[in-house]
Amino acid sequence: MAEKSWRENFNLIPAGRPLYIWGAHGLGINVCRSLEARGRAPAAFIDGGAEFTGGLHCGYPVVRPADFLAAPPKEAFVITAIDGRLEESAALLRGRGLIEGADFLSGDLIRPYAYNIDVSGACNLKCVSCPRGNVAVQPKAGFMSPELFERTVAKIKAEDPEASAVFLFIWGDPLMHPQLPRLIEICRAAGLRPLISTNLKEVRHLEATMKSAPPWIKVSASGFGPDYERTHTGADWSRFEAHLRLLSRLKAEYAPDTEVEMAYHLYRHNLGEQRLKMKALCGELGIVFRDIAALVQPLEEIMKTRGRPWSREAGEAMEMLLLPADEAFRRAEAEKDLPCDRFKEILIGWDGQVSICCAMFGPENILDDDFMKITLDEIYEKRLNSDLCRRCRESGTHMFQRQYQLFPWKNWGWRPSILKVEGKTAAS
Ligand code: SF4
Ligand code: SF4
Repeated sequence: MAEKSWRENFNLIPAGRPLYIWGAHGLGINVCRSLEARGRAPAAFIDGGAEFTGGLHCGYPVVRPADFLAAPPKEAFVITAIDGRLEESAALLRGRGLIEGADFLSGDLIRPYAYNIDVSGACNLKCVSCPRGNVAVQPKAGFMSPELFERTVAKIKAEDPEASAVFLFIWGDPLMHPQLPRLIEICRAAGLRPLISTNLKEVRHLEATMKSAPPWIKVSASGFGPDYERTHTGADWSRFEAHLRLLSRLKAEYAPDTEVEMAYHLYRHNLGEQRLKMKALCGELGIVFRDIAALVQPLEEIMKTRGRPWSREAGEAMEMLLLPADEAFRRAEAEKDLPCDRFKEILIGWDGQVSICCAMFGPENILDDDFMKITLDEIYEKRLNSDLCRRCRESGTHMFQRQYQLFPWKNWGWRPSILKVEGKTAAS
C-alpha cells in the first residue's frame, strides 16, 4: 500500500530511462502530471482502450499493451497505473522478463493525492443504484460558494503545488451549481483542471459552462430510449437525448478541445441493441463512449447487509445488475487482504466538510468538519486509522467496487450478450 513517503518514492525511478505509464486514466494521468512536475515527462502511455488509438493523450503517444510487450523499447522503465489491475500488468511485465524495481514499479508507490470537491451538494435524479435514490435519510443540500471554493483550491495548491486536477463532484451534479463557470475560472487561475460529471438533466448553465471550456465532462447514461429511465430514475429520455445533442453543439461552437465522455452503465436490460444505438449516437456527436458495469452503493449499506437489499429501490437496482451484489460481496470478501486504493482521495463537501470515503454516504463518513483546519497528511492518517475503514477492510467491502471494474468476460467467467451482438470487439 502507498505510504505517506510517496513523494520520496519518486527516487526509485531510475534517471535517464524512457518512462512508460501503463494506464491512461485516473491514476495514470495523475502519475503523468507528477512526473512532468519533476521534469520527467513520460515517453508514452501504454493502454489498449480503443479511444486512444492513433492519437496523443495528455500530449503523449499511446502504445497498445500487446505491441509494447512484443518488443519493449530499449531501457524502458514502466510505471503500472491501472487501478484494480496493478498486479495484472505487473504479471505481464514479469512474464516478459522485466524485473520489478529494476524495470518497473507500481504506480501505487507514487500515488499522489486526488481531489474531489462536491460543489453541488444535491442531485436532481434519484437513481435506484445510488444513495441519492435508495437511502431514506439524505444529508443537508447546498452549493459551495465561490469564496469558499477559492479558499479551498488555494489551500490545496499551497499544500500540494503539484496538484493538477480536481473533480467537481462526489454525490452531486456540478451543472446544478448556478456559478459553475466562475468555479471553472477559479480552478484555471490556480492551475487546476476542473473535471465535471453530470446526468445532463439541468442545462440552464450549460452554455456558460461550455464557454469557459472545461477540459473534461463525463455524462452518465444507462440505456437508449425509455429504458434509460428505469435506472436513471426521475430522468426523461427525450429530454436527455436533446441535451446530449445540445452539449455536442456547444462543444463544437465554444470548446472543441473539451473531452466529452459517456459512461454507459451496463445493466441486464440495456445491453445489445440499446448499447449499440447509444454507441452510434456518441460517435455521431463526437462523444467518447465507455462501458462501465453498474453497481449499487453506498458501501456502508453493502457492508451491513453483505450485498442484500436494504430498501425497495436498492432491491430493484440489484435485480438488474450483471453481477449479483451478494455474489460481488462474496468475491470481495475473498480478496479482503488486498489494499484499498482510495486512501489518497481528498473528499471535500459543499460546506467544507471532509469525508472518509467517496463510496460511503452516511454521517459516519464525516472525517472532519472543516477542510481549512486539517492538513492533507492529517486527513490521510485519520482515514487510515478510522473505525469505518478498519471495518470496511476487515469485511472486504473495500474490494466490492473492484468486482465491477474489470470487464465481465475477463473477470466473471461468463460472456454477457453484448458479445453476441458485437462480436469479439465489445469494450475491449
Ligand atoms: S447516480 Fe449520479 S445522477 Fe443518479 S442520483 Fe446518483 S448522483 Fe444523481
Ligand atoms: S477502506 Fe473502505 S471506507 Fe476506507 S477508503 Fe477504502 S473503501 Fe472507503
